[in-house]
Amino acid sequence: MKTIAIIGAGPVGLAAAAHAIERGLKPVILERGPDVGHAVRQWAHVPMFSPWAFNIDTAAERLLAAAGWNRPSPDAYPTGGDLLWQYLTPLAERTALGEAIHLDAEVVAVSRLGFDKVKTAGRERAPFAVRYRNGAGETTVLADAVIDTSGTWFSPNPAGAGGLPAIGEEEAAGRISHGMPDVLGEAGARYAGRRIAVLGGGHSAIGTLIALAELQDRAADTRIAWLYRGPHLTKAFGGGAADQLAARGELGTRVAHLVESGRIAVETGYLLDRIETHAEGLRLIADDGRTVAAEELVVATGFRPELGFLRELRVELDPALECTPALAPLIDPNEHSCGTVRPHGAAELAHPEPGFYIAGMKSYGRAPTFLLATGHEQVRSIVAEIAGDHEAARRVELVLLETGVCSATPGDAKTAAASQCCGGPAPIAADACCADDASAKAAGKTGCGCGTSARTDERAMA
Ligand SMILES: Cc1cc2nc3c(=O)[nH]c(=O)nc-3n(C[C@H](O)[C@H](O)[C@H](O)COP(=O)(O)OP(=O)(O)OC[C@H]3O[C@@H](n4cnc5c(N)ncnc54)[C@H](O)[C@@H]3O)c2cc1C
Repeated sequence: MKTIAIIGAGPVGLAAAAHAIERGLKPVILERGPDVGHAVRQWAHVPMFSPWAFNIDTAAERLLAAAGWNRPSPDAYPTGGDLLWQYLTPLAERTALGEAIHLDAEVVAVSRLGFDKVKTAGRERAPFAVRYRNGAGETTVLADAVIDTSGTWFSPNPAGAGGLPAIGEEEAAGRISHGMPDVLGEAGARYAGRRIAVLGGGHSAIGTLIALAELQDRAADTRIAWLYRGPHLTKAFGGGAADQLAARGELGTRVAHLVESGRIAVETGYLLDRIETHAEGLRLIADDGRTVAAEELVVATGFRPELGFLRELRVELDPALECTPALAPLIDPNEHSCGTVRPHGAAELAHPEPGFYIAGMKSYGRAPTFLLATGHEQVRSIVAEIAGDHEAARRVELVLLETGVCSATPGDAKTAAASQCCGGPAPIAADACCADDASAKAAGKTGCGCGTSARTDERAMA
C-alpha cells in the first residue's frame, strides 16, 4: 500500500487524505497546530463568500455521510468557524481520517532518502523522507508521495513596500497584526478607542476598515487611517453598482462613504519605509517622508508561500508568483483581477521531483484568488495520479459557477471581505467584473481573464 505524506490538516489536506483512503492508499497527515484547521481557526469570525455547496470535498462528504453526518444547507454561507466545527472537526473525529492525523507535528524539511538535491541516478525510486518535529523532538516519516497543503496563512507579506519588511518592523511586532483581526470580537479591547492604521488595498483591508468603523460606533475615540499603496482609491472601491458582484460592489460603496464622510483618513501612494516604536505608539514613515502616528497597525498585504522546508526537493516555480510555471499564466494578478482559472490538477501541479505536489492555497503561490473548490479538484486529480489512475487524473470533474461564486453572496459586507479578490471564475456575461476589468474592456483589452484559454474549460453549474 502506497503511503502519501500530507503536510497540513487544512480543508485541502484533509480532502487529499479522504481521496487517498477511498483509493486504498495510506495517508499520513502532519499538522503543526494543536487541532485540524489550525489556519482556518485564526479567521473563524470571518463569513465566507462561497456557500457550503462549494466548500465541501466530495470524497470527504462520502466518508462523513457513512458516519451519519448531516450536510449543512448547500445554499448557506458558513463562517470560517462553521467550516471548522461543522465540517473539518467531524471529518477528523468521526471518520477513518482520525487515525492518520498527527497534531503538533511541524514539517521542517523534506528530502528523498539518501539523496540530496544534486544526486540523480535512482532518485525517483527513493522514498521521500519527511522530517517533522513535535514536543518529543524530530522524527522522519517515509512516504511514496508528498502533497504539501500547508497553506500560506502563517507567512504573511510584510508591511514594507517592495516586499521587504519596513525598517523597524520587527521591533514594532507587538503593535502589528496581520490579515483580518477580529476587531468586533475577541480583539475588540485591543483596538477600541485607539488610533489604528490599516495597510493594504484588498478586501481583507476593506473588511477590517468597515469593521473598525463599526467599532467606532461603540467607542467614539477610535481613529482609523487607511494606508494605500496605489495612487488613488478607484480600484479599491471597485465597480460599485456597476459591479455584477453585488456584495463586492456594496463593500466598495460602503468604504467609499466612510472615506467621504471623513471617518476614515486616507493616505494614497503610501509606501511604508520605516516604523519607529515609541512608548505612546508607532510612527509610520513613508518613503516620501509622510508620517502617520498610530497605536496599532493592521497589515493586510497578502500572503506568500513558505518554501524553506522544500529546499532539498527539485521544485520548479514561476519566478514572480511562486506557483508552478503551468499555473502562473492562469492566475497572474497582473492579468486577472477575478481569479479566472480553469480546473487543473496533477499535470499542471507537477514538479521535476516525481511524486511531489503542492496543492491548496499554497499552490497559488503569491496569487490571492484561490478557491476551496479548486483545491478539492486539485487533490482529487493528484491522488488519482499517485494511485496510477492517469485517466481520472486528467479528467476535469470540477463544475464552476458561471456567474462567479461571489455573485451569489448575500449583502453582508463582511462576507465579501473574506475574499481577497472576487475569488470566482470570470462571469461569462460580466460587463464589469471589477473596475479594472471594466476599464480594460473599454480600452479594447480582455477584462477579467476574458479571452484567455482558461475560459474554454469553464463549465456551467448544473
Ligand atoms: C479570511 C479568509 C477567507 C476565505 N474565504 C474563502 C471562501 O469563502 N471560499 C473559498 O473558496 N476560499 C476562501 N478562502 C481561501 C482558501 O480557501 C482558504 O484559505 C483555505 O483555508 C485554504 O485551505 P488549505 O487547506 O489550502 O490551507 P490552510 O487552510 O491554510 O491549511 C494549511 C494547514 O497547514 C498547516 N501547516 C502550515 N505549515 C505547516 C508545516 N510546516 N507543517 C505541518 N503543518 C503545517 C497549518 O497549520 C494549517 O492547518 C479564504 C481565505 C481567507 C484567509
